[in-house]
Amino acid sequence: MLLSSEEAEVFKIINPDGKSDFLLVCDHASNRVPKSLNNLGLTDGQLNDHIAWDPGAAQVALKLSQLLDATLVMSCFSRLVVDCNRALVSPQLIAPISDGIKVPSNQDLTDEERQQRIDTFFKPYHYAIESILDQRNGRSTTLLSIHSFSPALAESGEDLARPWHIGLSFKEYDKLINHLYAELMKDKQLCVGYHQPYAVDEEFDYTLIEHGFKQNLEHGMVEIRQDQLATEKSAEMWAQRLHIALNEAVV
Ligand SMILES: [Zn+2]
Repeated sequence: MLLSSEEAEVFKIINPDGKSDFLLVCDHASNRVPKSLNNLGLTDGQLNDHIAWDPGAAQVALKLSQLLDATLVMSCFSRLVVDCNRALVSPQLIAPISDGIKVPSNQDLTDEERQQRIDTFFKPYHYAIESILDQRNGRSTTLLSIHSFSPALAESGEDLARPWHIGLSFKEYDKLINHLYAELMKDKQLCVGYHQPYAVDEEFDYTLIEHGFKQNLEHGMVEIRQDQLATEKSAEMWAQRLHIALNEAVV
């Protein structure tokens, strides 16, 4: 068994009766690892780092859910256990190496071990999003995915400093993100990435592709740089900023 009974919650649905057209998702909200996997062989320090989760993303998503009165679905386990935002065929679904760090418990998994992680964590999370979309049948819905990104990647050793405070992207249906981009750009202090630091990709953005793009729903991804989310207060400030910009954007 991968999970003990007290660890049973693999996703959380916040504000299920939210009235907003926005449905928020946070794939990398948590760095929890089930006890049975012994920290995946990593140190606590490594598990607190960006390889295991998106630091600050959960706080932004929770506050935004409250401000918008929007339903939010969050994963409750680390992306290193299984990454809920990767296509099942992706070699990064259960990453053997992440940003140059070898993940000991993700080496040479058997098909059974792999399937167990998918069935225990990945599938219930996506089923939850799917069920919420089903229940909203006919109701206008915009899927908004909340992430945070590392100010620089350690991997290549080059200077990979990322200048954007926030990055926005989408696969198709540009209305939401274009308006949001225009709103945020009104603040001359902000460096806003457009399809930066990441463009939406079939392999790496499973959630948005599967539940947004393939369902013909307006959708977007927001990525906030992690040093902008260092405190609870700064995360709330970003949620407020997004709330204002989104309100302007949907008018
Ligand atoms: Zn993420």
